[in-house]
Amino acid sequence: MTQHTRVLIIGSGPAGLTAAIYSARAQLNPLVIEGEPSSTSDQPGGQLMLTTDIENFPGFPEAITGPELMANMRAQALRFGAELRVDKVHKLDATQRPFRAWLSGDGEEPGVTADAVILATGAQSLMLNVPGEERLLSHGLSTCATCDGFFFRGQDIAVVGGGDSALEEANFLTRFATSVTVIHRRDSLRASKIMQERAFANEKIRFAWNTQVVEVLGESRVEGLLVKDTVSNVERVLPVTGVFVAIGHVPNTSLVTGQVDLAPNGYVRTGLGSFTNIEGLFAAGDVQDDVYRQAITSAGSGCIAAIDAERWLEAQGL
Ligand code: NDP
Repeated sequence: MTQHTRVLIIGSGPAGLTAAIYSARAQLNPLVIEGEPSSTSDQPGGQLMLTTDIENFPGFPEAITGPELMANMRAQALRFGAELRVDKVHKLDATQRPFRAWLSGDGEEPGVTADAVILATGAQSLMLNVPGEERLLSHGLSTCATCDGFFFRGQDIAVVGGGDSALEEANFLTRFATSVTVIHRRDSLRASKIMQERAFANEKIRFAWNTQVVEVLGESRVEGLLVKDTVSNVERVLPVTGVFVAIGHVPNTSLVTGQVDLAPNGYVRTGLGSFTNIEGLFAAGDVQDDVYRQAITSAGSGCIAAIDAERWLEAQGL
C-alpha cells in the first residue's frame, strides 16, 4: 500500500537528519529513507559513519566519533516524531506532484508519495580500490584533510591525486605533518597553476611522479604504501603512516539525473537556499555542495531545506 507523507527526506547523513529534526519539530511528520548498509558508500548515517573522532563539530569540546554523532542525530529526529526507515529509494518520479518514490520490494506502485522531497543523498569520495584501502579507512587512511589532518602531527604522510583537491590537502597537511608526498599517476599535475606554485614552494611537500598505489600496507594502522613506477614498473615501499586519497568526489544524484538541473560538475544546482528547479524538491548537504563538504555545513544546509520545505508547503496550503 502506498504511504503518503508531507515531507520525504532521502538520506540520513547530517543534512538528512537535521532536516528531519527541523521538519519533525514543525509537526510535518517527515519520513526519512535512511539508505541501506549495502556498501561502504551508501550506508545509513552517510560518510560520517566512516570516520573516527570528529573534533570540529561545535558543541563537542572533547570530540565525538562519527557513528556516535549520527546516532545522536537519529535519536533526536525520532524524539520529535520523524519516521526513520532503513531502506533505499530505488526510483524517484519528480515530474509530477505528489512526488512518487519506489522503495525496495515495490512493484508498479510506488511505496511512498510525498508533497515535498528533501534530497540529502550526499556524495562519495572516489577511492583507489586497492587492497588494504577499505580495511585502513579511518585507521591512517582518510579522504578529508580538514577532518583528520590534526591526527598526523609529526608524521610522514602521503596524498594521492594531482588535482586542486590533492594540492590543497597537501598544503594544509604540512601544518601538521613532517613531510607530505604527493603521489600522482602522471608527470604533470591537473591542478591550477597557482596551487602548483604554492605546492612547489612548500619545502615539506615532495612529489612521487608517474606513481600508482598498488596496496595500502598495515594490519590495523597504515604502515606504508606499496607503489609502482608507471614507466619502469618497478615497485617500492613508501614508508608513510598516513595517506589521504584526494582523487575527486561524485555526488549521489542517480535518483534525479535527467529530472533536476545539475551543475556541469554533476552536483544538484540549488538557487537561493535549498530550492532546485523543481517546485517542492529541495536539496541539502553534499549532493549540492562541492565546496565546503563539512558535517556542520551539511547539517546547516539540512536545516535550511527543512525551513524552505515548510514555508513552501504552507504557501501551497499543504
Ligand atoms: P580532479 O578531477 O580535478 O582531479 C583528480 C585527480 O586525481 C587527477 O589528478 C587525477 O589524475 C587523479 N585520479 C583520478 N582517479 C585516480 C585514480 N584512480 N588513481 C590515481 N589518481 C587518480 O578532482 P579534484 O577533487 O582535485 O577537483 C575537483 C574540482 O574542484 C576541480 O574543478 C578543481 O579545480 C576544484 N577544486 C578547487 C579548489 C580550489 O580552487 N581551491 C580546491 C579543490 C578542488 P589525472 O590528472 O591523471 O586525471
